[in-house]
Amino acid sequence: MRALVKARSEPGIWMETVPVPDIGPNDVLIKVRKTAICGTDVHIYKWDEWARKTVPVPMVTGHEFVGTVADFGSAVTGYHVGQRVSGEGHIVCGQCRNCRAGRGHLCRNTLGVGVNRPGAFAEYLCLPQHNVVPIPDDVSDEIAAIFDPLGNAVHTALSFDLVGEDVLVTGAGPIGIMGALVAQAVGARKVVITDINPTRLDLARRLGIHHVVDASAEKLSDVMAQEGMREGFDVGLEMSGSAVAFRDMIDAMNNGGKIAILGIAPTGFEIDWNKVIFKMLTLKGIYGREMFETWYKMIALVQGPLDVSGLITHRLGVDSYIEGFEAMKSGNSGKVVLDW
Ligand code: NAD
Ligand code: ZN
Repeated sequence: MRALVKARSEPGIWMETVPVPDIGPNDVLIKVRKTAICGTDVHIYKWDEWARKTVPVPMVTGHEFVGTVADFGSAVTGYHVGQRVSGEGHIVCGQCRNCRAGRGHLCRNTLGVGVNRPGAFAEYLCLPQHNVVPIPDDVSDEIAAIFDPLGNAVHTALSFDLVGEDVLVTGAGPIGIMGALVAQAVGARKVVITDINPTRLDLARRLGIHHVVDASAEKLSDVMAQEGMREGFDVGLEMSGSAVAFRDMIDAMNNGGKIAILGIAPTGFEIDWNKVIFKMLTLKGIYGREMFETWYKMIALVQGPLDVSGLITHRLGVDSYIEGFEAMKSGNSGKVVLDW
Protein backbone atom coordinates (compact mmCIF):
# COMPACT_ATOMS: atom_id res chain seq x y z
CA MET A 1 0.00 0.00 0.00
CA ARG A 2 1.02 3.66 -0.35
CA ALA A 3 1.96 5.53 2.81
CA LEU A 4 3.63 8.77 3.87
CA VAL A 5 6.72 7.50 5.66
CA LYS A 6 9.32 9.22 7.81
CA ALA A 7 11.88 7.03 6.09
CA ARG A 8 15.16 8.69 7.01
CA SER A 9 16.60 10.73 9.85
CA GLU A 10 16.55 14.05 7.95
CA PRO A 11 13.89 16.68 7.08
CA GLY A 12 11.04 15.45 4.85
CA ILE A 13 8.34 12.79 4.58
CA TRP A 14 8.23 10.44 1.61
CA MET A 15 5.49 8.55 -0.24
CA GLU A 16 6.55 4.90 -0.19
CA THR A 17 5.11 1.45 -0.74
CA VAL A 18 4.90 -0.55 2.49
CA PRO A 19 3.07 -3.76 3.47
CA VAL A 20 -0.58 -3.54 4.58
CA PRO A 21 -0.45 -3.86 8.41
CA ASP A 22 -1.14 -7.28 9.94
CA ILE A 23 -4.05 -7.28 12.39
CA GLY A 24 -4.26 -9.11 15.69
CA PRO A 25 -7.44 -10.65 17.19
CA ASN A 26 -8.51 -7.34 18.81
CA ASP A 27 -7.64 -5.03 15.90
CA VAL A 28 -9.67 -3.32 13.19
CA LEU A 29 -8.17 -2.69 9.74
CA ILE A 30 -9.37 0.67 8.43
CA LYS A 31 -9.32 1.74 4.77
CA VAL A 32 -8.35 5.39 5.09
CA ARG A 33 -10.46 7.94 3.16
CA LYS A 34 -9.26 11.32 4.39
CA THR A 35 -6.52 12.49 6.73
CA ALA A 36 -5.60 15.87 8.18
CA ILE A 37 -2.15 17.25 8.98
CA CYS A 38 -1.41 18.06 12.63
CA GLY A 39 1.28 20.34 14.05
CA THR A 40 2.91 17.13 15.34
CA ASP A 41 3.25 15.87 11.76
CA VAL A 42 4.93 19.16 10.84
CA HIS A 43 7.45 18.64 13.68
CA ILE A 44 8.18 15.19 12.21
CA TYR A 45 8.40 16.66 8.68
CA LYS A 46 10.83 19.38 9.85
CA TRP A 47 12.65 16.77 11.98
CA ASP A 48 13.18 19.09 14.93
CA GLU A 49 14.76 18.09 18.23
CA TRP A 50 11.50 16.70 19.70
CA ALA A 51 10.88 14.59 16.58
CA ARG A 52 14.46 13.26 16.46
CA LYS A 53 14.19 12.21 20.12
CA THR A 54 10.73 10.69 19.85
CA VAL A 55 10.10 9.05 16.47
CA PRO A 56 11.96 5.89 15.39
CA VAL A 57 12.52 5.65 11.62
CA PRO A 58 11.11 4.32 9.42
CA MET A 59 7.61 5.28 10.64
CA VAL A 60 4.31 5.67 8.79
CA THR A 61 3.13 9.11 9.98
CA GLY A 62 -0.28 10.70 10.70
CA HIS A 63 -3.06 10.30 13.23
CA GLU A 64 -5.99 12.48 12.07
CA PHE A 65 -8.20 10.35 9.84
CA VAL A 66 -11.55 8.96 8.77
CA GLY A 67 -12.11 5.74 6.86
CA THR A 68 -14.14 2.57 6.63
CA VAL A 69 -13.74 -0.83 8.27
CA ALA A 70 -11.98 -3.16 5.82
CA ASP A 71 -11.38 -6.16 8.10
CA PHE A 72 -11.22 -7.09 11.77
CA GLY A 73 -9.67 -9.65 14.09
CA SER A 74 -11.41 -12.74 15.46
CA ALA A 75 -12.19 -11.18 18.86
CA VAL A 76 -13.72 -7.97 17.48
CA THR A 77 -17.46 -7.54 17.85
CA GLY A 78 -19.88 -4.78 16.90
CA TYR A 79 -18.28 -3.61 13.63
CA HIS A 80 -19.06 -4.43 10.03
CA VAL A 81 -17.06 -4.09 6.82
CA GLY A 82 -17.75 -0.73 5.18
CA GLN A 83 -18.71 1.04 8.43
CA ARG A 84 -17.42 4.65 8.63
CA VAL A 85 -15.05 5.16 11.54
CA SER A 86 -12.45 7.47 12.97
CA GLY A 87 -10.49 6.72 16.10
CA GLU A 88 -8.49 7.75 19.11
CA GLY A 89 -4.81 8.07 18.30
CA HIS A 90 -3.59 7.55 21.86
CA ILE A 91 -3.21 3.84 22.54
CA VAL A 92 -3.37 3.25 26.30
CA CYS A 93 -2.11 0.28 28.28
CA GLY A 94 -5.30 -0.86 30.01
CA GLN A 95 -3.19 -2.02 32.99
CA CYS A 96 -2.15 1.08 34.95
CA ARG A 97 -4.19 2.49 37.82
CA ASN A 98 -5.80 5.24 35.74
CA CYS A 99 -6.67 2.91 32.86
CA ARG A 100 -8.26 0.43 35.24
CA ALA A 101 -10.25 3.27 36.80
CA GLY A 102 -11.64 4.20 33.37
CA ARG A 103 -9.43 7.29 33.05
CA GLY A 104 -7.55 6.23 29.92
CA HIS A 105 -6.51 9.79 29.03
CA LEU A 106 -4.36 9.73 32.19
CA CYS A 107 -2.51 6.52 31.21
CA ARG A 108 1.24 6.74 31.93
CA ASN A 109 2.08 4.36 29.07
CA THR A 110 0.34 6.08 26.14
CA LEU A 111 1.61 5.32 22.63
CA GLY A 112 0.87 7.66 19.73
CA VAL A 113 -0.42 6.50 16.34
CA GLY A 114 1.94 7.88 13.70
CA VAL A 115 4.53 8.72 16.38
CA ASN A 116 5.38 5.49 18.23
CA ARG A 117 3.46 3.03 16.02
CA PRO A 118 2.43 3.02 12.33
CA GLY A 119 0.05 5.85 11.50
CA ALA A 120 -2.90 6.89 9.39
CA PHE A 121 -1.18 8.54 6.41
CA ALA A 122 -1.59 5.28 4.52
CA GLU A 123 -4.14 3.37 2.54
CA TYR A 124 -4.75 1.13 5.57
CA LEU A 125 -4.44 1.67 9.33
CA CYS A 126 -4.52 -1.00 12.05
CA LEU A 127 -6.16 0.19 15.29
CA PRO A 128 -7.21 -1.70 18.44
CA GLN A 129 -11.01 -2.08 18.55
CA HIS A 130 -11.02 -0.09 21.81
CA ASN A 131 -9.76 3.00 19.93
CA VAL A 132 -12.18 2.86 17.00
CA VAL A 133 -15.03 5.40 17.01
CA PRO A 134 -18.04 4.92 14.70
CA ILE A 135 -19.06 8.05 12.79
CA PRO A 136 -22.78 8.86 12.41
CA ASP A 137 -24.13 9.33 8.86
CA ASP A 138 -24.84 13.05 9.37
CA VAL A 139 -21.17 13.85 10.13
CA SER A 140 -19.15 14.48 6.96
CA ASP A 141 -15.86 12.75 6.17
CA GLU A 142 -13.87 15.97 6.38
CA ILE A 143 -15.24 16.88 9.81
CA ALA A 144 -14.57 13.35 11.08
CA ALA A 145 -11.03 13.66 9.69
CA ILE A 146 -10.37 16.57 12.10
CA PHE A 147 -11.93 14.98 15.20
CA ASP A 148 -8.51 14.48 16.82
CA PRO A 149 -7.68 18.23 17.09
CA LEU A 150 -11.33 19.14 17.60
CA GLY A 151 -11.23 16.70 20.51
CA ASN A 152 -8.23 18.56 21.94
CA ALA A 153 -10.27 21.77 21.75
CA VAL A 154 -13.41 20.19 23.22
CA HIS A 155 -11.44 18.55 26.05
CA THR A 156 -9.79 21.89 26.88
CA ALA A 157 -12.92 24.02 26.55
CA LEU A 158 -15.19 21.68 28.51
CA SER A 159 -12.70 21.32 31.37
CA PHE A 160 -14.54 24.09 33.19
CA ASP A 161 -18.13 25.33 33.22
CA LEU A 162 -18.40 28.01 30.52
CA VAL A 163 -22.08 28.91 30.72
CA GLY A 164 -22.37 32.68 31.24
CA GLU A 165 -18.60 32.97 31.79
CA ASP A 166 -16.12 35.35 30.15
CA VAL A 167 -13.55 33.25 28.30
CA LEU A 168 -10.10 34.23 27.05
CA VAL A 169 -8.46 32.03 24.41
CA THR A 170 -4.78 32.73 23.70
CA GLY A 171 -3.68 31.48 20.25
CA ALA A 172 -5.96 31.44 17.18
CA GLY A 173 -4.42 28.38 15.55
CA PRO A 174 -6.89 25.72 14.42
CA ILE A 175 -7.29 24.37 17.95
CA GLY A 176 -7.65 27.80 19.59
CA ILE A 177 -10.34 28.80 17.10
CA MET A 178 -12.13 25.49 17.66
CA GLY A 179 -11.96 26.07 21.43
CA ALA A 180 -13.43 29.55 21.05
CA LEU A 181 -16.22 28.19 18.83
CA VAL A 182 -16.98 25.52 21.43
CA ALA A 183 -17.12 28.19 24.16
CA GLN A 184 -19.58 30.22 22.08
CA ALA A 185 -21.65 27.14 21.23
CA VAL A 186 -22.09 26.09 24.86
CA GLY A 187 -23.14 29.51 26.13
CA ALA A 188 -20.13 31.51 27.30
CA ARG A 189 -20.93 35.23 27.83
CA LYS A 190 -17.94 36.92 26.17
CA VAL A 191 -15.35 35.03 24.13
CA VAL A 192 -12.09 36.84 23.34
CA ILE A 193 -9.36 35.22 21.24
CA THR A 194 -5.82 36.56 20.73
CA ASP A 195 -3.07 35.93 18.20
CA ILE A 196 -0.21 37.86 16.61
CA ASN A 197 -0.42 36.40 13.09
CA PRO A 198 -2.72 38.45 10.77
CA THR A 199 -3.80 35.36 8.77
CA ARG A 200 -4.88 33.59 11.93
CA LEU A 201 -6.66 36.71 13.22
CA ASP A 202 -8.56 36.91 9.90
CA LEU A 203 -9.48 33.24 10.11
CA ALA A 204 -10.86 33.76 13.63
CA ARG A 205 -12.90 36.78 12.42
CA ARG A 206 -14.26 34.85 9.43
CA LEU A 207 -15.36 32.03 11.71
CA GLY A 208 -17.35 34.49 13.82
CA ILE A 209 -15.45 34.61 17.11
CA HIS A 210 -17.02 37.34 19.24
CA HIS A 211 -13.90 39.48 19.84
CA VAL A 212 -10.61 38.91 17.98
CA VAL A 213 -7.55 40.65 19.41
CA ASP A 214 -4.16 41.32 17.85
CA ALA A 215 -2.01 40.79 20.94
CA SER A 216 0.93 42.55 19.28
CA ALA A 217 -1.05 45.80 19.05
CA GLU A 218 -3.80 45.77 21.70
CA LYS A 219 -3.76 45.37 25.48
CA LEU A 220 -6.14 42.95 27.14
CA SER A 221 -6.98 45.62 29.74
CA ASP A 222 -8.31 47.85 26.90
CA VAL A 223 -10.23 44.92 25.42
CA MET A 224 -11.83 44.25 28.79
CA ALA A 225 -12.87 47.92 29.08
CA GLN A 226 -14.42 47.78 25.57
CA GLU A 227 -16.33 44.67 26.58
CA GLY A 228 -17.58 46.25 29.81
CA MET A 229 -15.69 43.69 31.88
CA ARG A 230 -14.68 45.27 35.17
CA GLU A 231 -13.09 42.31 36.94
CA GLY A 232 -11.38 39.83 34.63
CA PHE A 233 -11.82 36.60 32.70
CA ASP A 234 -13.41 33.64 34.45
CA VAL A 235 -11.90 30.93 32.26
CA GLY A 236 -8.72 30.90 30.16
CA LEU A 237 -7.90 28.42 27.37
CA GLU A 238 -4.17 28.57 26.61
CA MET A 239 -3.77 27.41 23.00
CA SER A 240 -0.57 29.17 21.87
CA GLY A 241 2.36 27.65 23.78
CA SER A 242 3.64 31.23 24.09
CA ALA A 243 5.13 32.45 27.39
CA VAL A 244 4.03 36.02 26.65
CA ALA A 245 0.46 34.93 25.98
CA PHE A 246 0.34 32.84 29.15
CA ARG A 247 1.65 35.69 31.31
CA ASP A 248 -0.90 38.09 29.73
CA MET A 249 -3.61 35.56 30.48
CA ILE A 250 -2.64 35.31 34.15
CA ASP A 251 -2.80 39.11 34.40
CA ALA A 252 -6.22 39.22 32.76
CA MET A 253 -7.87 36.55 34.95
CA ASN A 254 -10.34 37.38 37.69
CA ASN A 255 -9.66 36.04 41.18
CA GLY A 256 -10.68 32.40 41.29
CA GLY A 257 -10.23 32.09 37.53
CA LYS A 258 -9.58 28.72 35.91
CA ILE A 259 -7.07 28.08 33.14
CA ALA A 260 -6.89 24.97 30.94
CA ILE A 261 -3.50 24.70 29.22
CA LEU A 262 -3.15 22.82 25.92
CA GLY A 263 -0.41 24.90 24.23
CA ILE A 264 3.05 23.33 24.34
CA ALA A 265 5.93 25.76 24.81
CA PRO A 266 9.15 25.03 22.90
CA THR A 267 11.17 25.57 26.10
CA GLY A 268 10.42 26.01 29.79
CA PHE A 269 9.59 29.55 30.94
CA GLU A 270 8.92 31.56 34.09
CA ILE A 271 5.63 32.91 35.32
CA ASP A 272 4.90 35.01 38.40
CA TRP A 273 3.64 32.27 40.73
CA ASN A 274 2.58 34.83 43.33
CA LYS A 275 -0.10 36.02 40.90
CA VAL A 276 -1.38 32.44 40.64
CA ILE A 277 -1.46 32.24 44.44
CA PHE A 278 -2.98 35.61 45.30
CA LYS A 279 -5.55 35.32 42.50
CA MET A 280 -6.24 31.76 43.67
CA LEU A 281 -6.17 30.49 40.08
CA THR A 282 -6.75 26.86 39.09
CA LEU A 283 -4.38 25.59 36.37
CA LYS A 284 -5.13 22.35 34.52
CA GLY A 285 -2.86 20.71 31.91
CA ILE A 286 -4.62 19.03 29.00
CA TYR A 287 -3.21 16.18 26.91
CA GLY A 288 -5.23 14.56 24.14
CA ARG A 289 -8.87 13.69 24.56
CA GLU A 290 -10.83 12.03 27.36
CA MET A 291 -11.58 8.48 26.35
CA PHE A 292 -14.26 8.54 25.34
CA GLU A 293 -16.33 11.32 26.88
CA THR A 294 -14.65 13.93 24.68
CA TRP A 295 -15.60 11.94 21.56
CA TYR A 296 -19.20 11.60 22.75
CA LYS A 297 -19.55 15.33 23.45
CA MET A 298 -17.70 16.38 20.29
CA ILE A 299 -19.96 14.30 18.05
CA ALA A 300 -23.04 15.73 19.79
CA LEU A 301 -21.66 19.27 19.34
CA VAL A 302 -21.03 18.91 15.58
CA GLN A 303 -24.46 17.31 15.16
CA GLY A 304 -25.86 20.37 16.95
CA PRO A 305 -24.65 23.96 17.30
CA LEU A 306 -20.96 23.65 16.39
CA ASP A 307 -19.79 24.34 12.83
CA VAL A 308 -16.01 24.04 12.34
CA SER A 309 -16.06 23.44 8.58
CA GLY A 310 -14.72 26.96 7.89
CA LEU A 311 -11.44 25.94 9.53
CA ILE A 312 -10.52 23.67 6.64
CA THR A 313 -8.55 25.95 4.31
CA HIS A 314 -6.89 23.30 2.12
CA ARG A 315 -8.47 20.23 0.52
CA LEU A 316 -5.81 18.37 -1.46
CA GLY A 317 -5.26 15.02 -3.11
CA VAL A 318 -2.67 13.02 -1.19
CA ASP A 319 -0.17 13.37 -4.05
CA SER A 320 -0.03 17.10 -3.17
CA TYR A 321 0.98 16.33 0.41
CA ILE A 322 4.14 18.47 0.21
CA GLU A 323 1.99 21.50 -0.62
CA GLY A 324 -0.13 20.63 2.43
CA PHE A 325 2.85 20.28 4.77
CA GLU A 326 4.35 23.53 3.48
CA ALA A 327 1.05 25.36 4.03
CA MET A 328 0.96 24.06 7.63
CA LYS A 329 4.63 24.94 8.13
CA SER A 330 4.00 28.55 7.04
CA GLY A 331 1.58 29.06 9.97
CA ASN A 332 -0.87 30.67 7.55
CA SER A 333 -3.28 27.77 7.03
CA GLY A 334 -6.25 26.43 8.90
CA LYS A 335 -6.65 22.64 8.71
CA VAL A 336 -5.23 20.83 5.67
CA VAL A 337 -7.24 17.75 4.63
CA LEU A 338 -5.72 15.14 2.30
CA ASP A 339 -7.93 12.88 0.20
CA TRP A 340 -6.61 9.31 -0.18
P1 NAD B 1 -0.69 26.51 16.08
O1 NAD B 1 0.78 26.60 16.22
O2 NAD B 1 -1.28 26.42 14.72
O3 NAD B 1 -1.36 27.76 16.82
C1 NAD B 1 -0.76 28.49 17.84
C2 NAD B 1 -1.11 29.95 17.59
O4 NAD B 1 -0.60 30.74 18.68
C3 NAD B 1 -0.49 30.50 16.29
O5 NAD B 1 -1.52 30.99 15.43
C4 NAD B 1 0.43 31.60 16.79
O6 NAD B 1 0.51 32.70 15.90
C5 NAD B 1 -0.24 31.98 18.12
N1 NAD B 1 0.61 32.75 19.02
C6 NAD B 1 1.98 32.77 19.11
N2 NAD B 1 2.36 33.70 20.02
C7 NAD B 1 1.23 34.26 20.52
C8 NAD B 1 0.97 35.28 21.47
N3 NAD B 1 1.97 35.92 22.11
N4 NAD B 1 -0.31 35.60 21.73
C9 NAD B 1 -1.32 35.00 21.11
N5 NAD B 1 -1.14 34.02 20.18
C10 NAD B 1 0.12 33.67 19.89
O7 NAD B 1 -1.15 25.27 16.95
P2 NAD B 1 -2.52 24.42 17.04
O8 NAD B 1 -2.44 23.25 16.14
O9 NAD B 1 -3.71 25.32 16.96
O10 NAD B 1 -2.34 23.87 18.53
C11 NAD B 1 -2.37 24.78 19.62
C12 NAD B 1 -1.30 24.44 20.65
O11 NAD B 1 -1.63 23.21 21.30
C13 NAD B 1 0.11 24.25 20.12
O12 NAD B 1 1.03 24.76 21.07
C14 NAD B 1 0.24 22.74 20.02
O13 NAD B 1 1.60 22.33 20.11
C15 NAD B 1 -0.54 22.31 21.22
N6 NAD B 1 -1.13 20.96 21.18
C16 NAD B 1 -1.21 20.32 22.37
C17 NAD B 1 -1.84 19.10 22.43
C18 NAD B 1 -1.99 18.42 23.75
O14 NAD B 1 -2.48 17.30 23.79
N7 NAD B 1 -1.62 19.09 24.84
C19 NAD B 1 -2.38 18.51 21.27
C20 NAD B 1 -2.29 19.21 20.07
C21 NAD B 1 -1.67 20.45 20.03
ZN1 ZN C 1 -2.59 2.88 31.19
